[in-house]
Amino acid sequence: MDKMLEKFQGSIFGLAIGDALGMPSEWLTSEEIKEKYGVIDDFLEPRNKFEGILKAGTYTDDTDQMIAILKSFDDSGFNNEIFIQELIKWYKRNPIGIGSTSKKAIQKLIEGDKTGCNSSSSGSAMRVGPLGLYYYDNYGKLKETTIEATKLTHNSPEAIAAALSVAFFVAESINGEKSEKSVEKCSKFIEDISLTFSEKIMSIANLSSPKEAYDFFKTGLDATECVPSAISGFVLTNSFKEGMISVVNAGGDTDSMGSMYGAISGAYYGIKDIPNNWTFRIKDKELFYELSKKLHHLKFEK
Ligand SMILES: [Mg+2]
Repeated sequence: MDKMLEKFQGSIFGLAIGDALGMPSEWLTSEEIKEKYGVIDDFLEPRNKFEGILKAGTYTDDTDQMIAILKSFDDSGFNNEIFIQELIKWYKRNPIGIGSTSKKAIQKLIEGDKTGCNSSSSGSAMRVGPLGLYYYDNYGKLKETTIEATKLTHNSPEAIAAALSVAFFVAESINGEKSEKSVEKCSKFIEDISLTFSEKIMSIANLSSPKEAYDFFKTGLDATECVPSAISGFVLTNSFKEGMISVVNAGGDTDSMGSMYGAISGAYYGIKDIPNNWTFRIKDKELFYELSKKLHHLKFEK
């Protein structure tokens, strides 16, 4: 199979799989996860706030918003106006698990106000994986587009720097890069947006295990916590499965950490390195094959 298509599929499936694996542990501490589930290494029926609402292998708002991004590409690349319409359509379906910032910001979009909310949550970082796929060969355009797509909902330096970091690592992964050099390059890439966030990213280079990273950054909803932790899960592990099990058992915002980790790691390793029992059983797998193919076509075959 085409190497790039494998990587696109890896990232798109990776995001949805990470979301679904992390869904049952969202907002539990790592100790509570151990008590309720042991170690999460497969899709589980949720015994948290999603109990009785979502089934094993089902994803949440993170993947919904990635789908909205994927549907917003046309012949000339990512189109922010289409994205606004996709977000509004999604919002009107009363989605389960929508974050409070996204909710407020989309209500503003419905009224024609595109200024977003001053929120430092990770609601944009979790969805921007496909921008890293499409603009992997043009970091200037990657930056411009990611900022544009983030500000619509999460208009704060931290949230923008966080989204840029995830998109950057997806692009690096497409380019086959996974090293301390990428950490340094990412830190430079976002320096003009948020120096604090840039320093956080740089500190990943001094850590030696994901566990150390989760203790250091924490794993909460705030982008300054869960985003460097998810990126550490990628940089400090050696396979898609190893890093994924680590992030979804970390506690805190585990579905978003699984999503961000999955988007980056899936782009690096490709779909063939994602365990089959996850790719075969994720909800809506046909849609993810279709959306991967569409993005690949728009990038390479049109
Ligand atoms: Mg979620």
